[in-house]
Amino acid sequence: MTKKKELKGKCGCGNVKYLIKDKPLFTQACHCKDCKVSTGSSFVIHTMVIEEDFEIKGDVASIELPTGSGKGVNAYFCIICGVYIFCKYNISPGRFAVRTQTLEKSIIPQAHIFVKDKDPWIEISNKSICFDKFYDRDKIWPKESLERIKK
Ligand SMILES: [Zn+2]
Ligand SMILES: [Zn+2]
Repeated sequence: MTKKKELKGKCGCGNVKYLIKDKPLFTQACHCKDCKVSTGSSFVIHTMVIEEDFEIKGDVASIELPTGSGKGVNAYFCIICGVYIFCKYNISPGRFAVRTQTLEKSIIPQAHIFVKDKDPWIEISNKSICFDKFYDRDKIWPKESLERIKK
């Protein structure tokens, strides 16, 4: 049985199933061009989790892709249906960014980044969580999450 704070997700065909065993650190939408290409849509939503909290079953393939930081990202896909499940930014070791919409229950983004590249027909009602590019993590993330990544 799933514990209350655990979150479950899977790929499109069910080959890959995963569990997030503790509260995620942060959830954000990114409207940059790289994320548009990678989703084939207008933005991606990523839920950041600590590596040890993430348990995955089923075979995944990975590929290293370039990022704006120049450090790159490793993206992980279901080997059967190709659904992109999570990625690991080389700039943030020890953490995974899970594709939020592969979760059973979606999470509302706590921030929207690269809003300067947002498609003009998308209206974000909460302007206070919109950022032209990136934000200052120390000001935006919950204190609890900041403390957890310092460990
Ligand atoms: Zn699959
Ligand atoms: Zn992006």
